[in-house]
Amino acid sequence: MIVAIDGPAGAGKSTVARAVALALGFTYLDTGAMYRCVAVARLRDADVDINALEIGLAATVSLNGEDVSEEIRSATVTEMASEVAAEPEVRAAMVLRQQSMLASGDWVVEGRDIGTVIAPHAELKIFLTADADERARRRAMQSGRPLEQVLAEQHRRDRRDGERELSPLVAAEDAVELDTTALSAGEVIGEIVALATERDGGRQ
Ligand code: C5P
Repeated sequence: MIVAIDGPAGAGKSTVARAVALALGFTYLDTGAMYRCVAVARLRDADVDINALEIGLAATVSLNGEDVSEEIRSATVTEMASEVAAEPEVRAAMVLRQQSMLASGDWVVEGRDIGTVIAPHAELKIFLTADADERARRRAMQSGRPLEQVLAEQHRRDRRDGERELSPLVAAEDAVELDTTALSAGEVIGEIVALATERDGGRQ
């Protein structure tokens, strides 16, 4: 079974997807971390061969064997990730990798294009949203960075992710939209686990 969780930056995807995977006993896949690894590689070498990159997504995120878990969360890499994610060759390479991983097993996958492009056949699609101010507030709290700065970066990234030609961030037609502005993480997780259990029951 595949549970796809898409949505803009700061809607709570990572916290929620991780916890849902744990509760269901499914494997968690963070596709954003893959774009972030590509960004690290590109920042180090502008001519890097994307197809030759070894990206490891276990307890830590690794790039060609090196632990980059912290580096991929920096502001520079975050900005670059959204830039490389608009490139057709990068998307094509990531789509192939992600689809081959998802070909078997039970997954909770988070990203921007999971329900629309990567796994349009997913049994459950969730589109997580929240007010832009609330999303920035959460990010600022998490990172300890000034709210104004986080809000400006988020706005730029939302626009780029939403307006790009290839796989822009949109909810799949059959996605369940959850606005998390006034909900706790526990409430969102509970709701998704309940929906997944219901759909999984219907599948068996
Ligand atoms: O989710 P996260 O913030 O880690 O994603 C980093 C960037 O990677 C996003 O801003 C987006 O541009 C890109 N991304 C994407 N498609 C995905 C996951 C992430 O374009 N499935």
